[in-house]
Amino acid sequence: MTNRCLWCNKTINNELTLSFILSLKKYQDEILCSECLCLFKKIDNNLCCYMCGRNGKFELNKCLDCSRWELMGDTLINHSFFQYNKPMKDYMQKYKFNGDYRLRKIFCKYFEQYLNPDRIIIPIPVSNKTFKQRGFNQVEGFLENIDYLRALLVNEDKKTQSHLNRKGRISMKQPFKLNDSFKNDIIDKSIIIVDDIYTTGTTIRHAGKLLMENGAKTVQGLTLAR
Ligand SMILES: [Zn+2]
Ligand SMILES: [Zn+2]
Repeated sequence: MTNRCLWCNKTINNELTLSFILSLKKYQDEILCSECLCLFKKIDNNLCCYMCGRNGKFELNKCLDCSRWELMGDTLINHSFFQYNKPMKDYMQKYKFNGDYRLRKIFCKYFEQYLNPDRIIIPIPVSNKTFKQRGFNQVEGFLENIDYLRALLVNEDKKTQSHLNRKGRISMKQPFKLNDSFKNDIIDKSIIIVDDIYTTGTTIRHAGKLLMENGAKTVQGLTLAR
């Protein structure tokens, strides 16, 4: 069986070995070739900040940013799959900004394996303007085989975040509003907010705050990269 690597377009040769067939594992087409698979660095769950998921060794397993959040009374927990390294930045550029929607496939399985159905999954929304330009919500692209709620909407009168610096982002007013159609579906529920990248953590916190104010039981974050 032959198919092409979704990232470098080289041919991948999949050898169906006898031991694989006997293992009764479901056959999945490889999406990345072995070289491209190594470009994206997984975050080591045993060597990262326990609050935000940042890769590395930290005193008390907590990074400086999270110590600051904690001092402000914020204890949101986030999990991320990959380090935000150069290849991941290139990936985001191609997928999100150049709008190559096929590339979502590279990372869908990580979300599928991690998310379980007893949680309510809520993706971070994109603005109407972004949706028109890009044609898709890049976060929802990762969730294509998962049930999720479009419970958050962008509060359209606010400026978009990419134009603001770190300080501007942290101090920004609530960028989201609740989708009234799902108001009752979040009450007393444990919610996972999904985003593509955790940068300052402000986006997920704004979303989390809004959901908690509207009756959610717990919220936590999940992002592709940190
Ligand atoms: Zn490749
Ligand atoms: Zn942290």
